[in-house]
Amino acid sequence: MKSHLIFIGAPGSGKGTQASKFVSDRAFKHISTGDLLRSEIAKQSPLGLEVKKVMDEGKLVSDELVIRLLQANVNLTESQYIFDGYPRNIAQAETLDLEVLKGSASTAVYFDINMEKLVERLTNRRTCKTCGAIYNLISKKPKVMGQCDQCGGTDLVQRADDKEEVIKNRLKVFTETINPVLKYYQDLGRLMKVDAEAEVDAIFNKISSKV
Ligand code: AMP
Repeated sequence: MKSHLIFIGAPGSGKGTQASKFVSDRAFKHISTGDLLRSEIAKQSPLGLEVKKVMDEGKLVSDELVIRLLQANVNLTESQYIFDGYPRNIAQAETLDLEVLKGSASTAVYFDINMEKLVERLTNRRTCKTCGAIYNLISKKPKVMGQCDQCGGTDLVQRADDKEEVIKNRLKVFTETINPVLKYYQDLGRLMKVDAEAEVDAIFNKISSKV
């Protein structure tokens, strides 16, 4: 039976890096509500125009809008998913169980990390505009400065919401809202904690042993 993964962690805690390993090594599908929203902004769709200001300030987009976007992009019968960035609050956790997973097995993985390290991690994060590969100017530099190792693209950009002031707000929103979500999964016996400061492969092996 397919078991899906729900990645929970502060921005910059390494969810995206692990998700890309699960996609390449374990054939999971990665669905990030942040990526879906950013692609709506890039397309300048009505939804994108509606959410841009909220996202630029590091605040949460409305539950109703995010679930609509998520529903339109998942097909549980076809794939084993990693949900990244969803749920962000209890209402979203309940909606995910009742309206998306509908009884399918899933494990929530919490990426535990010291918040103070995150501001540095995030201000140095860069993403390849062509293929989405993630780099860090301190800990994971591209082999050739300014060029993507994976696709050779030369546009490594900083996310609009990875600026220091916005990051601080995103971390504040995360710490204020996430505890009830962790308790929700803990009470259901579906929570697994990983040390997000451990080696990438060690984290991958630990999560992998569960699915
Ligand atoms: P992320 O890429 O997960 O850090 O998300 C970037 C931004 O997208 C967040 O700061 C929110 O503004 C918005 N966002 C992403 N996922 C959600 C969600 N599940 N609920 C509400 N807003 C979200």
